[in-house]
Amino acid sequence: LFERFSARLKAQVGLEVYTSWFGRLKLHSVSKSVVRLSVPTTFLKSWINNRYLDLITTIIQAEDSEVLKVEILVRTAGRPVRAGAEERPSAAEAAPASQPARRQPPREIGHIASFPTPVQSASASSTQRQPSAGGPLFGSPLDSRYTFDTFVEGPSNRVALAAARTIADAGANAVRFNPLFIHSGVGLGKTHLLQAIANAAVNSDRNPRVVYLTAEYFMWRFATAIRDNDALTLKESLRNIDLLIIDDMQFLQGKMIQNEFCHLLNMLLDSAKQVVVAADRAPWELESLDTRVRSRLQGGVNIEMETPDYEMRFEMLKRRLEISRQDDPSLDIPDEILSHVARNVANSGREIEGAFNQLIFRRSFEPSLSLERVDELLAHLVGTGEAKRVRIEDIQRIVARHYNVSRQELVSNRRTRVIVKPRQIAMYLAKTLTPRSFPEIGRRFGGRDHTTVLHAVRKIEDLIGGDTKLGQEIELLKRLINDNNA
Ligand code: ADP
Ligand code: MG
Repeated sequence: LFERFSARLKAQVGLEVYTSWFGRLKLHSVSKSVVRLSVPTTFLKSWINNRYLDLITTIIQAEDSEVLKVEILVRTAGRPVRAGAEERPSAAEAAPASQPARRQPPREIGHIASFPTPVQSASASSTQRQPSAGGPLFGSPLDSRYTFDTFVEGPSNRVALAAARTIADAGANAVRFNPLFIHSGVGLGKTHLLQAIANAAVNSDRNPRVVYLTAEYFMWRFATAIRDNDALTLKESLRNIDLLIIDDMQFLQGKMIQNEFCHLLNMLLDSAKQVVVAADRAPWELESLDTRVRSRLQGGVNIEMETPDYEMRFEMLKRRLEISRQDDPSLDIPDEILSHVARNVANSGREIEGAFNQLIFRRSFEPSLSLERVDELLAHLVGTGEAKRVRIEDIQRIVARHYNVSRQELVSNRRTRVIVKPRQIAMYLAKTLTPRSFPEIGRRFGGRDHTTVLHAVRKIEDLIGGDTKLGQEIELLKRLINDNNA
């Protein structure tokens, strides 16, 4: 149900809106007549409740006519995220399960009406938190786990981390790396580092006005503002920020939006406000970006983060274990196992995280895990790093066979659904299992543009997030590919 629902919702609202608002939507529970969905923040909950609940309900009812009501809950794991100054979770919001999902919750109308317009939210915050108007204005939600404390330092990210710390400490007072541009492959800690800057700055005494945005959110926000004849207000509000942080810059698209971004960038940099940008490649490789934006981004400091080494991977596992032990002190995984995993799972922070989660999960019903057993469990992760080379041809062949299409069809221009999904999965696997770049993968998939590959990877990542069935399917494919390679 959820899989079909997600697909239809995405088709309805478009990929941009979908990733901005529903990327982290999960199925919570289904009773006979009530479907409960969950999101990580109260802001997302209100936003979805107010703008999309009708649509969501309609789609779900079309899938299952028994459903009478859809409710959006806030997942309780972790501290609710500070996305806006008025975003204080009340006790009622912290326990939303008891709240009936009204189509237009009266209590939240005011909240929402004031939130999406940053100027209003900025003035609201200045009356609420006198005398300063600091804090985050608007933007993508921050994950409170992404802090400097939880970020593991090593040779691959030392420079980037030092620059990030300097900015978080000094804020607009000492602009030394401006703009700071950080780039790396997927899962190497860009988002973590950017949000660490935002979290640290927001919680500092200086109370700077911080905006953390993904490029997609920026696009979406501007597109709606333009549609609602509200672009001027939005632009005004952005003038006043001290620290602008843009994640996933490679997704910034569209002439008008890039124009707006260019103005904003010039304005902030010319008034010595700090700008931090991250992307999956260097500024000069962002081919789809307006040349003026590109050259402005190249005018600052550009730092690349690389794949973590063994010590860092081990340390990441250690710290994750520490954090998990706060919830469950009985949890323990011997260093021997952690070290084994760190040695063998060699790609990215994201894979380390995946490996760790699997270990924890397994550990709960297999208390004495042997190293062999660990290898078995992590077969799809182990050996994807330096040791073995997975070939894109093999990925295409195995995926094509699995979905009963031909390899030619997979790399063809055909856009029917039966082919598009396997194609996207194959691209995703090519990106996660090989060190090939986006443009390279695009070339190997019938000469597609690198942005197509990027979108495919993002889309599959999003889908896996809320869809365990697809996740399992992909695990299976990974195993098939690795077996082929063994
Ligand atoms: P990116 O934005 O570059 O794709 P993320 O920041 O999303 O990567 O990192 C993926 C996962 O790996 C996150 O859970 C992140 O916390 C973790 N991670 C990556 N690098 C580090 C690091 N140096 N220390 C701790 N965790 C890390
Ligand atoms: Mg990221």
